Amino acid sequence: MGKMKKAMFKIFQEEILFWQKKFQISEWEIYLSYKNLNNCRAEILFNWEGMIAHITLNKAWTKKEKIEVQKTAFHEVCHILLAPLRSYNYHKDQEELEHAIIRRLENTIFVDYLKDEKLK
Ligand SMILES: [Zn+2]
Repeated sequence: MGKMKKAMFKIFQEEILFWQKKFQISEWEIYLSYKNLNNCRAEILFNWEGMIAHITLNKAWTKKEKIEVQKTAFHEVCHILLAPLRSYNYHKDQEELEHAIIRRLENTIFVDYLKDEKLK
């Protein structure tokens, strides 16, 4: 694995842990992997009973821009935060609603986080 890609996955891991702690969702076990995926930045799979989430960062997508990797990590943790809203008869429009909420979180909490990080 290239140095850049390796470094980006490390950032991804750190950001996932940061937001899991921040949102106080330690009851979820989160496993991370780094593989080539099609047409997405990352993928998340849930085991509901076990409260386990498997997140895969798309190795083929991974950008040089740290901020994009940070945003992807934030986005995936938001899916875990909102996971209790999901049900077994999960519909496409629910997914759209979930993404609308996540966009709001990205444009508020995440943007503030980046501002704070720059001041450090
Ligand atoms: Zn998403």
